[in-house]
Amino acid sequence: MANHHLFVWQRSISVVAAAALGFMAGFSLTVDKSISQKAVNTITLPLGEQSQNTANSQSLTAQPNEPFKQLVAKLMEAEKAKRLNPPVPAQFKAKTINDIPLSSGEKVIALTFDDGPWPKTTNEILYILNKNNIKATFFFIGRNVQTFPHLAKLVAEHGHAVGNHSWSHPYHQHSTAAAAQQIDRTTKLIYKLTGIKTTMFRPPGGYLTNGLVAYAHTQNYVNVMWSADSMDYAVSSPTLLRNVMNQSSPGGIVLMHDGGGNRMGTVNALPEMINQLRKQGYKFVTVPELMEMREKELQANKG
Ligand SMILES: [Zn+2]
Repeated sequence: MANHHLFVWQRSISVVAAAALGFMAGFSLTVDKSISQKAVNTITLPLGEQSQNTANSQSLTAQPNEPFKQLVAKLMEAEKAKRLNPPVPAQFKAKTINDIPLSSGEKVIALTFDDGPWPKTTNEILYILNKNNIKATFFFIGRNVQTFPHLAKLVAEHGHAVGNHSWSHPYHQHSTAAAAQQIDRTTKLIYKLTGIKTTMFRPPGGYLTNGLVAYAHTQNYVNVMWSADSMDYAVSSPTLLRNVMNQSSPGGIVLMHDGGGNRMGTVNALPEMINQLRKQGYKFVTVPELMEMREKELQANKG
């Protein structure tokens, strides 16, 4: 829960203002009136984004009650989730992408992890990413989110981007209704647990013609494929590392897995992969960040 304190509040403003700012920023959280009313009378909070090291609680001018602290934490989490998972830019809506090379040629690359959340390995990967100060993109399977909701929340709390990888990872042909069930149910659950309203889809097995992608496109999802396949589900750590390094490219999207089986090979290869990519000059971005960078280039060209 330490991640609730990722944002440190600096300027002193009242809770009313904090809540109001949140709502102005487009939050759709339900605020318990009795809680916020009580809080209004008793609490003053410092607001702002600063160092992560200053403990939130130390900068409070009064001791907040527990429900209030939870409310603030929830608002802040929702704000962070929204910032890290912005709406898909128009040029990518209902499109399929494998990578997004930038006109600038900037060496950015997006690490993506499928089939989680998953016990042990999701945690291990979060630890490695955090240690290296990297944000990645996780494509969740809905039923795994249902089974391991705390892990889904943890991924979001760590500030990673989250996408939809269907409810049960099916490969067969789907009617529109069945596809809708696979995709809508997953997106709803992710939203309920994390506040992230994703419109990124990655098809199970990369199958493009079984009705899932077709449905996702009707809902304006971007279909996120990859340009570098680690094949981590089938090969050893050294091989998957070599696969990624051989296929890495500016604007590239790397496919790995944090769930769906024993993914310790991925966990073991990840630190060296990060090392080698950094040595080659790569910066790590999320898929939404990559889309946003391209969108900015497009806007700049228009202007
Ligand atoms: Zn998968």
